Amino acid sequence: MYLTKLINNVCEVIIKNQDYLSSLDREIGDGDHGVNLARGFTKIQSDLATYETLSLSEIFKKMAMTLMANVGGASGALYSSGFLEIANYLKNQTNISYQIFVEGLNVFIEAIKKRGQGKIGEKTMLDTLIPAYEEAKKFSTETDKSTLWLKIIEAARQGMDSTKSLIATKGRASYLKERSVDHLDPGAVSSFLIIETIANCCNSEGLGK
Ligand code: ADP
Ligand code: MG
Repeated sequence: MYLTKLINNVCEVIIKNQDYLSSLDREIGDGDHGVNLARGFTKIQSDLATYETLSLSEIFKKMAMTLMANVGGASGALYSSGFLEIANYLKNQTNISYQIFVEGLNVFIEAIKKRGQGKIGEKTMLDTLIPAYEEAKKFSTETDKSTLWLKIIEAARQGMDSTKSLIATKGRASYLKERSVDHLDPGAVSSFLIIETIANCCNSEGLGK
């Protein structure tokens, strides 16, 4: 199944960047973001063979449960609530069209906002995810594929970079107040890596199941 290949790529990028993500978290948090996420995505990767027989909704539910049980920290709860809402949204779907992808991203963001009582501009993962969604929304289909996915990556990258100059007002980094400035937010970087990986995968292979 195409989706399991995409999920495998996401697992790989998080595992590969775990030291980088934890080093960012050492600057403005407690240094565990990469190691937390890598624990969850390693477990997802090792279960991937069992995903082949699951429905789209069941796949996202299983990922949510695995992240909830294995990641810990704020990011575990936030990412897992996002994936759980995607699972609910995908009930009865057997294929992911571009419209479903865009709405799925929206559902993911809304769940994270609700769970963390967050919004854009607070130096979190939302600063990457919201601009990526806003860019994705501008396209109604995947027909303009050559530029579409690259534009989504660029919007996500700009959002991630914007966190450097922001003062954190949510999560652990908010304890540092002005001292959180001049550091990238680790969650904004992990969200960027996830978006970039999905977009690159879809750019070369398109959406589907
Ligand atoms: P913890 O802070 O509990 O150690 P992690 O280090 O795994 O958790 O994750 C930290 C990341 O979680 C931050 O970089 C930020 O992007 C994200 N985060 C924290 N709180 C919130 C929130 N309320 N809303 C959105 N994202 C948040
Ligand atoms: Mg942390």
